Amino acid sequence: KRRIGVLTSGGDAPGMNGAVRAVVRMAIHYGCEAYAIYEGYDGLVKGGDMIKEMHWEDVRGFLSEGGTLIGTARCAEFRERPGRLQAAKNMIIKGIDALVICGGDGSLTGADTLRAEWQGLLKELVEKKELTEEQIKPFTHLNIVGLVGSIDNDLSMTDATIGCYSSLARICEAVDSVDTTATSHQRAFVIEVMGRHCGWLALMAGVSTGADFIFIPEEPPSENWQEEMCHVIKKHRAMGKRKTIVIVAEGAHDRELNKITPNMVKDLLTNQAGLDTRVTTLGHVQRGGTPSAYDRMLSTLQGVEAVRAVLDATPETPSPVICIIENKIVRRPLLEAIAQTKEVATAIEAKDFDRAMELRDAEFAE
Ligand code: ADP
Repeated sequence: KRRIGVLTSGGDAPGMNGAVRAVVRMAIHYGCEAYAIYEGYDGLVKGGDMIKEMHWEDVRGFLSEGGTLIGTARCAEFRERPGRLQAAKNMIIKGIDALVICGGDGSLTGADTLRAEWQGLLKELVEKKELTEEQIKPFTHLNIVGLVGSIDNDLSMTDATIGCYSSLARICEAVDSVDTTATSHQRAFVIEVMGRHCGWLALMAGVSTGADFIFIPEEPPSENWQEEMCHVIKKHRAMGKRKTIVIVAEGAHDRELNKITPNMVKDLLTNQAGLDTRVTTLGHVQRGGTPSAYDRMLSTLQGVEAVRAVLDATPETPSPVICIIENKIVRRPLLEAIAQTKEVATAIEAKDFDRAMELRDAEFAE
């Protein structure tokens, strides 16, 4: 029987459990055995009890649980070849030659590296007498399939990542709560949301809550943004608005890449716009809690597709990542999606914001 491993890695995201559940049950449905690898790549490197067979009932109740029940971790060892050598050995011992990874671009890059090195790693394990020729014989190729678990919606080539809509919903709830008290006292609130190279959460939260001003990394504000922002805020107040909401992405900066912090914005609103201003950092609240209906659906449909992709894979097929494009669950080459994602970050670092926005726009014009 074919054995398929599933793991969650990198930052946790609501919906990861739904993905694990779908992979486990779909693997069983297709006559394979399913294995959960606990604590991300740590479990793969440590092996033993960290790699457990999962039966149908083992993932009961997973769909509505937030976070990841099989754990996640940042694993330094897996970044180096000796760590991946150990991982390969543990996989052979357990008879696993296919992995579905639910994580961010870092986790997916790591998985593809393991696949690229696979034959070399097995050869080395035989040379070092850690495994025999007999043992490695059935495992000529490693299949990797990526699922994108990330609240930031920061992977190119997919309209949504598992977790981003739950996070957006949580941010909206939080802003709504802040709204009521802001309106009562006629206050201004500066709200920091997650997103280092990707302003999706900040942008969509701004749209969804009718914020007065937002700061995102891809499109920094004009050079005299201080005046511009205060002008906009004062105009809204003059129109009778009793509250002010400014949303700042974690990775926000000006056109010279100087960080724009919530406290800087607060000082401006206090001193130049004359508003009683508070800062609210949403922090890990944005990651927590139950997955939204959308993320339950997305993780389930993508988990199903991931198992199909494992079973369709040939040694020649590039590792796929499961995406959603215009409401269809599709496969895209993993490395291309990661390369395109990195291009946005590179454009931002080079202060080429037109290029960054062009790349983001292209994501929606597939
Ligand atoms: P994310 O997957 O959310 O982007 P990280 O970048 O922290 O998060 O990656 C999670 C884990 O994936 C790392 O702790 C490491 O074990 C593994 N990983 C990340 N990048 C690589 C890489 N280039 N090569 C090998 N493993 C990697």
